[in-house]
Order: sequence, then structure tokens, then C-alpha cells
Amino acid sequence: MSNLGFQSVCHLFDTHPNVSVERAFLPDPDEIEEYARAGVPVISYETKTPIGEFDIIAISLAFEDDYFNIPKILELAKVPVLASKRGIGKRAAFDPIVMAGGVACSLNPEPIAGFIDLFILGEAEGALHAFIDRLCELGQESGTREARLAGFDSLPFTYIPSLYEVEYDGVGIKSFVPKEGAKARIVATKNLDLDKFDIPRSYIYTPDTAFKETYLTEVERGCGRGCRFCAAGFLYLPPRNRAVEKVNEVVAVGAEVSGKVGLVGAAVSEYPDIKEVVEAGLAKGAAITLSSLRLDSLDAPFLLSLKEAGYKTVTMAPEAGTERLRAVINKGMTDSEILSTVEIVTEAGFTKIKLYFLIGLPSETDADAEAIATLALKVRSQMKSGMLHLSINPFVPKPFTPFQFHPFEEAGTIDVRIAAIKGALKKERGITIKALSSKEAMVQAYLSRADRRANEFILEAAETSPKRAMKRWMKNDKLVTDSIYRTATEQEILPWDMIEHGLDKSYLWGEYKKGLEEKLTPPCVVGSCTRCGVCIG
Ligand code: SF4
Repeated sequence: MSNLGFQSVCHLFDTHPNVSVERAFLPDPDEIEEYARAGVPVISYETKTPIGEFDIIAISLAFEDDYFNIPKILELAKVPVLASKRGIGKRAAFDPIVMAGGVACSLNPEPIAGFIDLFILGEAEGALHAFIDRLCELGQESGTREARLAGFDSLPFTYIPSLYEVEYDGVGIKSFVPKEGAKARIVATKNLDLDKFDIPRSYIYTPDTAFKETYLTEVERGCGRGCRFCAAGFLYLPPRNRAVEKVNEVVAVGAEVSGKVGLVGAAVSEYPDIKEVVEAGLAKGAAITLSSLRLDSLDAPFLLSLKEAGYKTVTMAPEAGTERLRAVINKGMTDSEILSTVEIVTEAGFTKIKLYFLIGLPSETDADAEAIATLALKVRSQMKSGMLHLSINPFVPKPFTPFQFHPFEEAGTIDVRIAAIKGALKKERGITIKALSSKEAMVQAYLSRADRRANEFILEAAETSPKRAMKRWMKNDKLVTDSIYRTATEQEILPWDMIEHGLDKSYLWGEYKKGLEEKLTPPCVVGSCTRCGVCIG
């Protein structure tokens, strides 16, 4: 319920005159077995209807880790888990269409292609009503399930996996061919004018969720900084801002409903009217939080407003310990810039700072990793008191970023480097470290770049556990190991190449090479730049 994508999709369905939408959630892990034993199907939250009785089950997928929940919820709903088994025999008239959307599958839908009848790729606002209109048209027509599904292919943003034939060559793809009549390219939707649609917000407000008692709203979309590892940064290009009057209206509603408003976006502190929004929220008596802060966009007066607005922890993301590696990822900030920001943050009265780092970035050495500990010590000393929290995650190469071509770092190397950082800081008071294990990240690394042969892995992982399944597959299936640890080439067919987000593959390849040469690329200048392809249309 704290996912604005999920909230927006519910709202979009709800505002179509021909749709009644209800929510359903996978039961908590300890309840799943009880449901299965009792043979009780998953029911909707609003009218307690078994979800298998709906015309459509629409699944929102933000992270690869969500994939394991698809077989689980379909099984509990008594809907065939595999798309190919739906609508057969006695079930022909009953099985719902299982569709999916969200960031994870907009990047690469292939790992779950076998479970989903139809994907909607890209930003939902411009797509969902057109999809429902088409559903209503098709509803009048008779025909087989296959024919009805194929009827959605005329919409540019739908991806129906059963309409494509894939041939493999070892770990790579030899050919990806649309079956007769299907479109060759899927054009993901992108809403260049955000103000044309309602602002995503906590339409259904509940305190029983993550970020509880916070009314969330999106102020901007996309980030023009071009950090080469960042999927959200590239997927949502170009950077787009909402009109400040509209944002202020929603902040006022949030202040009334909850008293705490969370401003969401890939680069919230770079929203040109952010100071005005924070001031307006304060004037309404609201506490304000921002989902992201960019170090070089912080100044003393702004930090004081944030403090006044109830902001407690300043979160920053240097991502790498050395200036060299920051140039590789296109985050060209210097150590002294980081430290002077820490000084301003401390002077503004903040006592908690959280720093995000990645381990296993392209060209990273042991010395780069050790420099994270050195930088942490300098930051802690600059703070004088309070708590410094480090969040360290293994780097996972993501589709539609320049680093989509790069392999995942060897798990052993990641573990050694994280252990070295922990070792160097273990006696330091006032520093805590949270690190994701290489094992968990490896599952993400496999699924983020996998093709549809990963369907079987997901089924096994849903039955056992992702880590256990990964251990077994790494031992028995060389293709999985190769897929995780390989460098892709510019020419080869990548599993997500059929999707059009506007980004030129050759630009991404050029950025990858430029990164390895430690060269920086300046931020987007929307209106006068056409380099990545997105602004050409
Ligand atoms: S074309 Fe230029 S301004 Fe537009 S999204 Fe790409 S890099 Fe940014």
C-alpha cells in the first residue's frame, strides 16, 4: 500500500466507467500453508470474492524478488500457474486473464513470460484506459482465448509472450521472432506531460503499511544525472516535473489526512520548486519527508526547512568510495564535496546520516572497496557525534542501463570486500553497517538479465527458497552461472531488446565504454539534447 505505482493502477482502473476493481494480497508467509491446507482460495479485500472469479488478475511487480510470489498467489487462487494451461477444457470459459506491469517487468518481462498472459509495459497512465476499452470491444466478440489475447496485440504497449518464438544459442538468444501477425516492437508508454493525469498519491490511505502514517505523492519523474547503474534513472528519462500548484494541492490534502507527507521521485531534491513545496507543507502543519536527496543540491536554508518539517535522517548516496570509481558510474562528486555537505548537514542539527554504497561495480578494486571504510571514518569524524548508517548492496546489472552489458561480480569477491569494510569499522562507535549478502543479490542478478528459461527456476524457488534454488541451479546448470557472470556484447540479442523505451542501445553501449574509461557525461539538458534517443520521440 506504500507503492505509488500500485495505488495509481488501482485508481486508473477505478476511474474507468466499465470497471470494478478490488485489491488482493498474497497472505503472509506463515498463513500460506494454512490457506493451502484448508483449500481456501485467495479472496479480494473489498468483497471477499475468490480472485480466480475476476475477469482479470493484474499483478504489480516492482522488484525481481516479487516474481516468486506469482506462482504462490496463482496456486492459492486456484488459477493455473502456467499461462499455457489456462482456458483449457472445462476451465475454458472461466480462467481470468493474468496480466502484469510495473518497473521490474518493464525492464525485462522474460523471466516470468510463462506465467503471464499479457504485460502492459511502461507508465500505466497512458495505457490502462486504452487497454480496458479494447477489453470491452473484445468482450463482445466470440472466439478462443488465444484469439482474444491476440486481440490486444494491436495496442503498442502490450506484450503477449505466447505470440513470440525464441530460439537459443547456449546462454544467448539466437532469434526472437513474432508469430504471424504479431508486432515486432513493444513501445512502452511514457507520459511526457505528467500534468495531464492525476498525481499518484495515497488514494487509499492506511496507516497499516510501510512508511506508515505517511501520505505519499509523486512530485517528479525521472532523473537526468545519468548514473550508469541506475535503472530508474534511465527507464524514466527524460526528467519531468509536475506543476507546483498541483503538488501543493495534494500536499495540503496529505497534511489534512495524515499530518505527514512523503514526496516521492527519483530526484526529489532537484525538483525546481522543492523549497516552495516544503514551505507550503510546513505552513499546513505537515511533517515532510523526501524519498531522495542529492548531495550537491543541499544548502543550509533548505536543510533547516527540512529539519523544521520533521526530517530526522539525511540519506545520501555516494555509491563508491573513491573519486575514480564515482567517475566510472558517472557520479562525479569529490570527497571534499561530500565532506562539506556533511558539515552543512551537521551544522543544521542533523545527528543521523545514512550513506548508500554499491559493491562490485565495474572496474572496482579491493582498494576502491576499502576506501568506503576510509570515507565513512572521515564522515563520522566530520559529524563529531550522532550515528552514521552505511547501507552496502552488491551491484546488480540492470536492463536499459549502460551497465546492462556488465557481469555480476564474483560472489566470493563481494563477500571479501564487504567483510574488509566491516572489519575496518568494527571498533568504531557511532557507525552501523547493513549489507545485502552476495547470495541474495545473485538471485536478483540472474533474474534481472534472464530470458524465459528462468521460469523453471522461479517455480522451484517459490517451492523451496530463492537462495536454496540458486545454490542447486548454480551447481547443476552452467547456463545460469554463465548468464550471471557474462559480459554481453553490443550486437547480441538481449532478452528485453524487443521493448522500446526510447533509449538507443548504441548510446548505452557508448556510455558503458565511457564509464570504463572513467569519463563523465553531463546531465540531461531537456530541449537541446538528443543524445540518448528519448527526447527524439
Ligand atoms: S535525449 Fe538528452 S535530455 Fe533527453 S533524456 Fe536523453 S540525455 Fe536526457
